[in-house]
Amino acid sequence: MRDEVSQLMWSRAPVRATAAESGESGDYGPSSGPGGGDGAFAARLQAALEGIEEAIVISDIEGRTVFENGAAAELLAGGATAALAGQAVSEAIRDALSGARPQRRLDLISPVRRSLSIRSFPTGSPSPDGAVAVIEDVTERLRLEAVRRDFVANVSHELKTPTGALTLLAETIDGESDPDVVARLVRRMGGEAERLSRIIDDLLDLSRIDANEAPSGALVPLDDFVTEAVQSLQTVAAGLDVVVDLHPIPAGLAVPGDRRDLVSAVANLVDNAIKYSEAGGTVDVEVVPEGSHAGISVSDRGVGIPTRDLERIFERFYRVDRARSRATGGTGLGLSIVRHVAANHGGRVSVTSIEGQGSTFSLILPAVPVPDVPPRQGDHHDDDD
Ligand code: ADP
Repeated sequence: MRDEVSQLMWSRAPVRATAAESGESGDYGPSSGPGGGDGAFAARLQAALEGIEEAIVISDIEGRTVFENGAAAELLAGGATAALAGQAVSEAIRDALSGARPQRRLDLISPVRRSLSIRSFPTGSPSPDGAVAVIEDVTERLRLEAVRRDFVANVSHELKTPTGALTLLAETIDGESDPDVVARLVRRMGGEAERLSRIIDDLLDLSRIDANEAPSGALVPLDDFVTEAVQSLQTVAAGLDVVVDLHPIPAGLAVPGDRRDLVSAVANLVDNAIKYSEAGGTVDVEVVPEGSHAGISVSDRGVGIPTRDLERIFERFYRVDRARSRATGGTGLGLSIVRHVAANHGGRVSVTSIEGQGSTFSLILPAVPVPDVPPRQGDHHDDDD
């Protein structure tokens, strides 16, 4: 079959080769194949067809297959799925032989969900002397498109709630003469505006982190960014009567990456641990070296997470308890920020939780030993500062 395709290729219209490859410019036909003659050029074309990811099937004018690349052979070999795909490819080839250039989608359900895009077109001019079908697995592309569509719908919904509330509150204030009621409504407007700005801040963070797939490899000392994240939340913790206990951090370890993103990831975990604790509770933050990695664990003894939700809490806007998340000023984006930061830094985040007893989130990041660096000028603050 492969030999046949060489014949077929050379019986077609001239193939253009690059001037650099041939040493001259112009069109090359069957008898003037560059770079070592017809056979070598056909072999090169064949290698090119083998090397591309899409499955390719070439037929003659009778619809008989004269070439299929490895991806096509794999796709069309055995099984019910292969039979369905084979049937769709035959139809596409038949349509192309009648001069059409159809593109269709085939959704396969078993053994796994898979979507194929099948495009076909005739070869030969002016009348067809064969046809080509190009089959692409578009499963992942469709999934990403669906995620993007859902995300836009979710963002719109999330922004609509506070903006709707703001409009309503403004209308109510407009007709209100009682100064006490006006003051109360204004406070609520402030709360909604804050919520709006938190969502926007988290969205901006998420899009920055999304774009920052390969953070700079600057070494960020572990004690530095973990301490900063914990300190930034001490006031919030005190306001909710929760103690954050930062255990001594092993010295001399650093994570290659982006300091701001690392602070943000740890802060999101600590923030959640505080928010989902009861008043009087304690949150423990510990750093444990694990070989070439360091584990940063954040444990609380709060509400915990039902087992059925554990897999989904890292999704954007997923909340176990919407009312509680809303009441505590949650945006539903915190854990998805953590997951992105972990992935960008070559690490991961995991969780164990028992409903009603508490949760432990562990952020595992690659860590390297660094010599102890004396504190920079200005880093140290005296108590009476
Ligand atoms: P949110 O802003 O709502 O906290 P996150 O993405 O940070 O959003 O978390 C998603 C959901 O996971 C939360 O709404 C909450 O239901 C659950 N969750 C996260 N951390 C904890 C925790 N420490 N304890 C209990 N539930 C948690």
